[in-house]
Amino acid sequence: MVQDERAELRTVVRDFFESAWSRDQLRESLDGKSLDTGVLWDRFAGELGLAGLLIPEEFGGAGGSVADAAVVLEELGRSLAPVPFLSSSVVAAGALIAAGAEGSLLAGIADGTKIAVMAGVWAGPEALLSATVTGDGVRLSGELPVVPDAEGADLILVPATVNGAMALISVDAHGAGVSVESVNSLDASVPLGTVRFDNAAGTVVGGEAENVVRRGLALARLGVAATLLGVARFSLEQTVQHAKERTQFGRTIGSYQAIKHRLADMMVDVETLASAVSSAVVADDGDDFDTAADLALAWAADKARNLVDEMIQLHGGMGYTWEHDAHLYYRRVFAVSGLLDAGNAALDRAWGTIESGGGLATSVDKDSADETSDDVVRIVKEFVSEQWQPDLTVREWWRRMSAARLNLPSLPAELGGRGWTSADEGVITDTMNAAGVTLGAGGIGRALAAPTIAAAGTDAQKARFLPGILEGTEAWCQLFSEPDAGSDLAGLRTRAERDGDGWRITGQKTWTSNAHVADYAILLARTDPGVPKHQGITYFLFPMRQEGVDVRPIREMNGHMMFNDVFLDGAYVSDDCRLGELGQGWALANVTLSVERSSIAASPTMTPAMPGILAGHLDRPATEFVEAFDPHSLGVVTDETVARLVRLVTDRGVSDVAIRRDLVRLAHMSSLRVEGMRRLKSGLDVTGAEPNIGKIHSNTALRLARDLIARILGVATGTTPVTADEAWAREILLYEPAPFIYGGTDEIQRNIIAERALGLPRELDPSRSVAFRDIASAVRP
Ligand SMILES: Cc1cc2nc3c(=O)[nH]c(=O)nc-3n(C[C@H](O)[C@H](O)[C@H](O)COP(=O)(O)OP(=O)(O)OC[C@H]3O[C@@H](n4cnc5c(N)ncnc54)[C@H](O)[C@@H]3O)c2cc1C
Repeated sequence: MVQDERAELRTVVRDFFESAWSRDQLRESLDGKSLDTGVLWDRFAGELGLAGLLIPEEFGGAGGSVADAAVVLEELGRSLAPVPFLSSSVVAAGALIAAGAEGSLLAGIADGTKIAVMAGVWAGPEALLSATVTGDGVRLSGELPVVPDAEGADLILVPATVNGAMALISVDAHGAGVSVESVNSLDASVPLGTVRFDNAAGTVVGGEAENVVRRGLALARLGVAATLLGVARFSLEQTVQHAKERTQFGRTIGSYQAIKHRLADMMVDVETLASAVSSAVVADDGDDFDTAADLALAWAADKARNLVDEMIQLHGGMGYTWEHDAHLYYRRVFAVSGLLDAGNAALDRAWGTIESGGGLATSVDKDSADETSDDVVRIVKEFVSEQWQPDLTVREWWRRMSAARLNLPSLPAELGGRGWTSADEGVITDTMNAAGVTLGAGGIGRALAAPTIAAAGTDAQKARFLPGILEGTEAWCQLFSEPDAGSDLAGLRTRAERDGDGWRITGQKTWTSNAHVADYAILLARTDPGVPKHQGITYFLFPMRQEGVDVRPIREMNGHMMFNDVFLDGAYVSDDCRLGELGQGWALANVTLSVERSSIAASPTMTPAMPGILAGHLDRPATEFVEAFDPHSLGVVTDETVARLVRLVTDRGVSDVAIRRDLVRLAHMSSLRVEGMRRLKSGLDVTGAEPNIGKIHSNTALRLARDLIARILGVATGTTPVTADEAWAREILLYEPAPFIYGGTDEIQRNIIAERALGLPRELDPSRSVAFRDIASAVRP
């Protein structure tokens, strides 16, 4: 099923439950009235034909995929409709398909006339039942507690031992010796039952039983995670709607920043949860499916709990009532989180995977159906094997990368790129790191100037500036922030005044990274103080090496001197270096800032080799930069970060299980960052806030990495680093606060998510509508 069809499926299922189902029935059921779900299931199966979604068409099913099932499950979580789709159509059907079951077993499940459940996997690692062999099959005795949807089931699948080996046994739920006792469920929408067998007759289903059961279990984990994604989305949407309507102190509560930021964080949780589910969906049938499903559920349980907590809290007293639906979702989260051995057990299971390799396989590098990713890896590998030589200079290596159009491949072909995506650039970084070669020219030129010039430059500007950026012979910096204009960048005071064919620039910029080695700058200056602040700004491509530019280093908290104050005193820039129209600088600045946030969240270019002549790296051997790291490129957690932390754990003999679990969480967060980019690339549920969400997620991972460093090193955190990994850890520790500030602080990201993506009211800014030159008298206190 392609994306459009999947979107249609979502709409069909949502519309169906909105008209056919009311959550009032859950309240009544919690009050003791029995819930008759049979009619709803019959309609679901009959009208939508989805009971056999995963079953091949030859057996009467729809031949759909796990990705299709995840859409339906998400909608089930959203509506809390009590239909046994997960139990019967996904878990039991999925296990039977894996077992190569006959059509006769599947036919009834496919049309919904028969409901199957898989017992014995939901409530943790209980000892398997043991079956005895009889002439015509097997006999089972014993009890299986907490089986969802057992009461209405027609067929019960049970993993059990037969003659010492594991087998999957199918039992007729209506047969002699089978009984199901209803269990009082916290969540009325998932009926639970205890299944008892008393010498009940069963049949061994074929196939490799361990694989079949593992498949059923993984589908169950992924399925519950997908339903929790539905719960999470519902919680966010309800709460945003409430925050827009509820008024206190004369304002809607959604206009208070304390509320907006919490809603923004809810959205970050929803989107990372969507990535956790989609990365497990993409992993389907691969070797990593079990781990991906395991971790998706662990992440889902964690995030959904936060979402329902926030939904109740931000609804105030109303959120705590019986009448409001919030508690129905709260119940669901707590009822299912305990099933399926999620949480710490899932993290412990995944430790082995990251202990050996550092990272979890991500969908970008294992998605073999995605030709583009495969092509990227192949093209880069071919390029490296043909062009990399140990005695090349950095200058020559970058020239070759640029000639192969691999230095900024997201540019269109006519500008020296290949029209690839930033996700593909992450693949290039990983592939080149794995090959042990120096990465391409990095810095502000490649990251920010080139994409903005490509978007808005004239042909002459593109021809003049792009080659120097791509070959790394010209270095750039970003002259945006000023002492009095940081978060409120549009309040910048540096002015540009007409002088013949050009402009004279006067003012002060600050925190300017690498200004001391830059040849050019992307510069914002005020060309018209007579209009409101966002309108009178113009964007320039500004030459740094001239009179009137005074660069003074500022020392950072890590002791390095990477950023600078830049004093501009009548420095000149010609009008043909103006980017875009006069007064359009703010719109273009937003292009740059959006690229900046995306690049912070993307896989970073980690080479410590700096572009431009002044840095002095161009004529050094490229091999010098392969192993070294640039302390200022440690702001994003990658598989490399995880691998180094695992090495520290191993080298220091750390056995603290809580540290290992958090390392697995970190590896998962790194893979979710990559999955977020893949989803963006595939156009899946694009929100427009991806760069902002990505930056916050990336920084949350970085903070976890920083804290892990302190926990792993213990007392050595505060003493002189001895090994190379300890020196690296020290650099991360001291750099960690920076990404929360640069590229727009995380508070500003939350404002943007809340206002632009969630539609909440804008922050008050009395200076917004006043002519810039009048701000001081009109609004400053
Ligand atoms: C390592 C590093 C490198 C940098 N490199 C560059 C560079 O190359 N070029 C460049 O131009 N700039 C650069 N910056 C500057 C960076 O973009 C700014 O520091 C940032 O935008 C914040 O501005 P500020 O420092 O003035 O803080 P302020 O804006 O004064 O913010 C102070 C605090 O108030 C909060 N705050 C402010 N306004 C709001 C609001 N409306 N709502 C909620 N909270 C708010 C902020 O989040 C922050 O916590 C760099 C910064 C760092 C740390």
